[in-house]
Amino acid sequence: MKEIYLDKNENPFNIPDTIKEKFIGYVKTSDFNRYPEKGLPSLIESLGKFTGLGSGSIIASNGSDELLDMLIKRANGNIVISSPTFEMYSFYANNYGNRVIDVPLKDDFSLNAGEIIKHRDAKLIIICSPNNPTGNLIDRESIKTVLESGITAVLDNAYYEFSGEDYKDLLKKYNNLIILRTFSKAFSLAGMRVGYGMSNPDLMSELKKLQAPFYMNILSAKLAEIMLENYGPVKDKINYIVSERKRVYSELKDIAYNSDTNFLMLKKDLYDYLATKGIHIRKLPLVKDRSRITIGTAEENNILISAIREYIKV
Ligand code: PMP
Repeated sequence: MKEIYLDKNENPFNIPDTIKEKFIGYVKTSDFNRYPEKGLPSLIESLGKFTGLGSGSIIASNGSDELLDMLIKRANGNIVISSPTFEMYSFYANNYGNRVIDVPLKDDFSLNAGEIIKHRDAKLIIICSPNNPTGNLIDRESIKTVLESGITAVLDNAYYEFSGEDYKDLLKKYNNLIILRTFSKAFSLAGMRVGYGMSNPDLMSELKKLQAPFYMNILSAKLAEIMLENYGPVKDKINYIVSERKRVYSELKDIAYNSDTNFLMLKKDLYDYLATKGIHIRKLPLVKDRSRITIGTAEENNILISAIREYIKV
């Protein structure tokens, strides 16, 4: 039985061979005995150009997880989250003894902004959009309501590329906003651990002071840069995954929630059942009777769809 892994919202495609070759060329000529250039200015500059925000508005990190860790540690106080959401927010808050105030999403998975802003003493509000595990985008107006409070807010935008909704323009108006993105999903680099944050230059330079000068290894930084220079094939894979997501959703409508990401939340916990078929999905211990599937290749998705159809028939 072929095992299929649809559990971690990874990209089902490795990077193209042509890009691997460029990377290998870099590996062959690298001086591994030397530290990276302090602050990795070349990566920061590439991200500044790629996002159109300029390097002053960018911070990079070992996965966006590391920026979440840093921001939650820095908050040193109450953190507002909206469950069900990405579990690492509570993980880091607990590590630093920060109290987690949960203002759950409404029944339709929209943000309860009115309730969130009642927590005036919060040091950080974390909004995940599109949200993991529910898959939906959070409406812009409710994000603005939260930002109007003036409290520092993180918008975790890890699945941005699959959603078509860019919140970057909000950075112009709101100095208290930090948007986090990652190379782990759309860019196929989960194993390299590269994430980045976007915010106003003042906040960015404050955060950079908390960072080690050699915060990322040269190989991860270089491969991220190469990917930015070769966005065409990345975009092709994004289009493929989005079209597969639409197809899988239309096949599984009765049992899945719609999504703006590279995954779907199922209305049942099929973790154990699918494991017996060699299909590994994500159990959601904090969300009763639900589970989450990552969109894979068309072949993997077909196997998943047939297995779920068989289950529904039973
Ligand atoms: N935010 C969300 C919502 C995620 O789902 C993930 C990864 N599963 C991350 C952040 C962390 O991503 P990274 O690999 O960049 O640390």
